[in-house]
Amino acid sequence: MTFYERVGVLHIHTTYSDGTWHHRDLARLANKMGLDFLVITDHNVYAGEHEGWYGDTLLLVGEELHDPQAAAPENHLLAFGVGEELTLAGADRPCSKAQAFIDAVRERGGLAYLAHPVEHSGDYALEPEINWTAWDASGYDGLEIWNYMSEFKSYLSELGPTLLYSFFPKLAITGPFPETLHRWDALLALRRVYAIGGVDAHGTVYRLGPLRRAVFSYAHLFRALTTHVLLEEPWSGQAAYDAALVYNALRKGRAFVVYEALGQGHGFRFSAQTRNEIYAMGDEFLATGSVRLHIRTPKSAHLRLLLNGYCIAETQGTELIHESRAPGAYRAEAYRYFPFRKRMWIVSNPIFVRTPDRRRVEAAAAIRIGNMDC
Ligand SMILES: [Zn+2]
Ligand SMILES: [Zn+2]
Repeated sequence: MTFYERVGVLHIHTTYSDGTWHHRDLARLANKMGLDFLVITDHNVYAGEHEGWYGDTLLLVGEELHDPQAAAPENHLLAFGVGEELTLAGADRPCSKAQAFIDAVRERGGLAYLAHPVEHSGDYALEPEINWTAWDASGYDGLEIWNYMSEFKSYLSELGPTLLYSFFPKLAITGPFPETLHRWDALLALRRVYAIGGVDAHGTVYRLGPLRRAVFSYAHLFRALTTHVLLEEPWSGQAAYDAALVYNALRKGRAFVVYEALGQGHGFRFSAQTRNEIYAMGDEFLATGSVRLHIRTPKSAHLRLLLNGYCIAETQGTELIHESRAPGAYRAEAYRYFPFRKRMWIVSNPIFVRTPDRRRVEAAAAIRIGNMDC
């Protein structure tokens, strides 16, 4: 299948909640910077009237849902493609508020992602950790596997690094939290759960004594962490139709996350090939023979192929090809160096390989034990 790759920035706040810019100004900036789409997710407010095309940028409006009555901040949920305000949805249901939000999103045909599921907030971040605690909830589509803002906050535990990283955030950013990746891999053993990346953009100006700095300007974040989607059709120019194309790609897991500061990720692909068919990210299929996993990157990188959370092959270059007969969730990671340190560049969504033979499951378990240090 031919895909049409489009680059978007997800999880953005505006003046409708605690952001500092209006939708139209954000769309203009994104258009100037060459972004294909934005997804606005204000806290407990939906402003769908701003959705539409602004030049060559499609502005989509979702919502970041959380319980305003909660004793401690927790369980933020990103809702896309719902088309209405959901803050009060499910207030009368006996389940948890987090589950009620997920159910409400699903009932309206939308997409639900756990926002910044794991946080570590350093003392100088001056913000609380907002973790996902409702891990018994079900029915969500995926995780915000990498939240740029959450990661940055985790490095602000001492004054020196806080000052240094405030001026040079690129020295800090390294990748998703290992706990989030482990959570994801554990969930993938049970069902399809897809990854997105979010910037959590507010455009806030931070003060530290006499210093006053917008570390996370919208412009900075728009070239930081992107989610690339693989559309089944090119843009039509009709906002509602094109929004559905983006949401359809996300729903199927046809997406990958790129830390653009390490190089543009356009052209990255992860696929699985059998004798008769080629499968893309997000696909699930029954394999009766050998499967050829293929990672391709637009720039040289340290490529890792993971099966059920464990590395089974790696190389340095722009291509990794690996034959396997084991079932499970395969996914790809690409790392690049900046400076001196290996940092995550691209995280793929998984491809699920099923086999009719139980012995293959045992083979997969053996691989997990044998290659943990890869
Ligand atoms: Zn949040
Ligand atoms: Zn947010």
